[in-house]
Amino acid sequence: MSNLQKEDFSAWYIQTIKQADLMDYSPVRGCMIFKPDGYEIWEHIQEEFNKRFKEEGIRNAYFPMLIPESFFTKEKDHIEGFSPELPWVTEAAGEKLEERLALRPTSETMIGTAFSDWINSYRDLPYEINQWANVFRWEKKTLPFLRTSEFLWQEGHTAHEDEESARKRTMRMLTVYKEVIEELLAIPVYEGQKTPSERFAGAVDTFSVEAMMKDGKAVQAGTSHYMGTKFAEAFDIKYLNRNNEHVYAHTTSWGVSTRLIGATIMVHGDEQGLVLPPKVASRQVVLVPVGPWKKKPEIVERLEELLRDLKAQGIRAIIDDSDNSPGFKFNEWELRGVPMRIEFGPRDMENNQVMIKMRDIEGKEAVSLEGITDYVENALDEMQTRLLETARKNRQMHEYTHINTLEELKQHIEEKRAVGELPGFVLAGWDGELETEAKIKEETGFTTRNIPFHPSVEKESCIVSGKPAKHTVWLARAY
Ligand code: AMP
Repeated sequence: MSNLQKEDFSAWYIQTIKQADLMDYSPVRGCMIFKPDGYEIWEHIQEEFNKRFKEEGIRNAYFPMLIPESFFTKEKDHIEGFSPELPWVTEAAGEKLEERLALRPTSETMIGTAFSDWINSYRDLPYEINQWANVFRWEKKTLPFLRTSEFLWQEGHTAHEDEESARKRTMRMLTVYKEVIEELLAIPVYEGQKTPSERFAGAVDTFSVEAMMKDGKAVQAGTSHYMGTKFAEAFDIKYLNRNNEHVYAHTTSWGVSTRLIGATIMVHGDEQGLVLPPKVASRQVVLVPVGPWKKKPEIVERLEELLRDLKAQGIRAIIDDSDNSPGFKFNEWELRGVPMRIEFGPRDMENNQVMIKMRDIEGKEAVSLEGITDYVENALDEMQTRLLETARKNRQMHEYTHINTLEELKQHIEEKRAVGELPGFVLAGWDGELETEAKIKEETGFTTRNIPFHPSVEKESCIVSGKPAKHTVWLARAY
């Protein structure tokens, strides 16, 4: 087995997504093609979120991708934050447009403009919608799934009567993100508040869920923003309140993107390649005939019967009865991350059993064909739970809470590097100043991930200035 994952995690990642046939590159730098096996992971993520959004009373809508420049200039922090990343359409049908149109990087401006028409009275509130869309942010450094110039996401936008109700929605969606990312993708996350420098352009407060990859680096997995009345003021989202006064609504927005696919690969993958949590795997089970099966048609017939039973139980299964050797097939489906392999040959037929190999653990198990579909369903559930537990253990091993000065942080990074270990996530005190935050990044490459709501240790002094800490923050290198 290779050591690529340990030795060169980035190379391992690229190799893994190529071998698993999840994506391809496009002629435009930073844009990618989602191949069916990659796209289906997204579809399962969408299904779960759609279910959760509907439970919350949030419905889907769709808004245009082209946004007039004048919309952007209405909220100054928003345009300042996004303008370096915007691609523009300046010409159509051979003629120069009177007004440039941006390819949306996010839809606050478009949706804010619509809300201003649609919301008139407190009876219209809360107004809560979600959009599934592609967005564009011309990123300087890109990495498939994790950071692309065009990506797919959901963006929720809500308007409320008051701060309390808007903040409740902001925090509720952060919880929904945490639950779905943990339950569906088996990725444990750290919830917290972003520091002002990492806040969404135009937001009053930004909250995030952050995940640790197998190389100890962080991925911001989802964000939820409380906008106060800033966007309402910029886009004139006013309503008649219960006292017959015209007042501004409080708005929120929140999003997760196809970055979650990249995070899933980086959290669960191993030296052998992709490992997919059963809940998002396009193929949960592959059935492989083994031994001298070609001379005995009853082997494939029995597998076909099993396939029907599994499908009837809602399990996504396939048979691989191609001409390749069993060894080739085992390898192929392992690097594609299929959670379970069922082998079946003439000797198994005699014993009324199958051999089962789970993707995430060593060794095979003989399992009776009696009650096999229930067994498969349970084993997939168990694997889903196991992956989350393993990811939690990995994460815990690379969390550090004992570091109190910048010197100690540098030493920690150096010591870990020397022995081939990960510097991981470091809990640190921070005085809340922009300069000290910038200094951490300059000198160590670590950035503030978020301010956890309930840190396991409350830090007393700032890691840079030594002054009393205003916050305890998670620091890490990030994708
Ligand atoms: P934001 O609107 O900046 O809060 O981003 C919403 C979500 O999109 C966050 O969860 C980000 O992690 C994700 N995201 C931001 N930029 C990119 C990108 N270039 N590629 C993929 N996902 C992204």
